[in-house]
Amino acid sequence: MTFERYDPDSFDHMQMPGYSLQIPSNSEKLIQRLSDLFPQNIKQIRNFILEVNKTSEGLERLARPIIFRQLIRNLESVFCALKYLHSTLQDVFDQFQLPLEAQTLLALQWPDFLLPPNQLSFYAWVILFTGYQKGAFYPTRHFESVINALVKVIEENDGEVLLNHEVTSFILQDKAVMGVKAKNLRSQQTKEFIGNTIICNIDPKKAAQMIGLENFSKTIRKKLDYDYSPSNFMAYCVVQNIDLRDYGFGKWNTFHSGHRDLNEAFEQMYVKNDFSNPSFAITTPTLLTQEYPDCPEGCQIIEFLTVANYDYFKQLRESNPKAYRQKKEEILESILDIVEKNYIPDLRKYIVFKITGSPTTNERFCWCPQGNSYGSSLTPRNMGMGRLNDETSLKNFYFCNASSGYPGFAPTFWTGTRLYQKLSGDTIP
Ligand SMILES: Cc1cc2nc3c(=O)[nH]c(=O)nc-3n(C[C@H](O)[C@H](O)[C@H](O)COP(=O)(O)OP(=O)(O)OC[C@H]3O[C@@H](n4cnc5c(N)ncnc54)[C@H](O)[C@@H]3O)c2cc1C
Repeated sequence: MTFERYDPDSFDHMQMPGYSLQIPSNSEKLIQRLSDLFPQNIKQIRNFILEVNKTSEGLERLARPIIFRQLIRNLESVFCALKYLHSTLQDVFDQFQLPLEAQTLLALQWPDFLLPPNQLSFYAWVILFTGYQKGAFYPTRHFESVINALVKVIEENDGEVLLNHEVTSFILQDKAVMGVKAKNLRSQQTKEFIGNTIICNIDPKKAAQMIGLENFSKTIRKKLDYDYSPSNFMAYCVVQNIDLRDYGFGKWNTFHSGHRDLNEAFEQMYVKNDFSNPSFAITTPTLLTQEYPDCPEGCQIIEFLTVANYDYFKQLRESNPKAYRQKKEEILESILDIVEKNYIPDLRKYIVFKITGSPTTNERFCWCPQGNSYGSSLTPRNMGMGRLNDETSLKNFYFCNASSGYPGFAPTFWTGTRLYQKLSGDTIP
């Protein structure tokens, strides 16, 4: 598998009224760009970015498996990281007294977490921000090719991938999971699957409820007591006879906010369900790679993402399907108005296909409880020492999911790889 790197000089483009900032891999360059925008605050900006880098180093040392020698050698960064165990990104912005506009520009990738600065764990922000600085990548032949490659390896090694099967219960014997019962959703037949080791990719809380929470140790039950990350609204659009590169799009993601304050923007959308001035992400996957296996001639893809409230959409869908469809349409129209005004005049004229997804779409397609985007919510409470990992307290049974590792495409691989190394003893360098 090969991957294409996002532009290292500007992998994220941040846009807000009166300001724009391109985030580079190089921290000195980032300090320079921010200092040019906020010449009165050069010292605070430098101190903040250096603290982010030190925290990132400390977190690397604290990640499992902890190597004691490295921990001792890097005590300064380890203590720096430990200081922020309970901090939100907003706490650290306030500590360094960054101007509000600088905060907004730095935190505009909030759709990557679906949380605003005043709720987001500083650790989660540092891990993603510095991770992207080290290199953000997109599969050369799109995400599907990676999944197909995984399936090929499984099948070449006598494994089987059974689609349309729902695990309906777990087979438990003396605090050991022996297997599962799964229903073939086509034939409606249920079959038992027995194994020496059972790895559970289902949301851990949902799986634990199926097994019975009382079967888990007190420590694991406490770790399972997490709240879910907010859900989202997605729009996938195809445009024809227009080159988005002519309008400022390319090997980067673009983030827009009409508000100066992201905490307010989030509250307006997530709590008040008001999308009249939304903040959202724009991504253009067909510009990230030259390979377009299935893309018709002259077409490009453009996607929009923002937060959406699960309870609100669920209630709307159940009580008034027409109003539900209208709300989805309203959010897309509001986003398109902003995009036409600020980025691509007459965009609607070029859209030849569009499809939108709501929190209930996530629930229906991904079977993720409450339509969550990233498993457990990325708050300091869920990101601290009590975070769930693969351990379940039951024999032969391991969690392997965003909520027992980290969310996102790449972190899903880290979570799986870590468990593979633990179970097989095979170390991946
Ligand atoms: C709309 C949306 C867009 C996203 N975009 C991106 C992106 O661009 N980049 C990125 O890095 N991340 C993105 N993410 C996040 C990323 O998709 C998740 O973090 C990642 O998929 C988590 O992987 P997982 O294996 O932990 O869980 P999941 O991918 O949710 O896998 C859990 C699986 O368990 C299955 N399951 C549940 N119950 C049962 C049952 N009873 N029986 C059998 N199977 C069951 C589900 O069907 C599902 O396939 C996005 C998330 C959403 C919702």
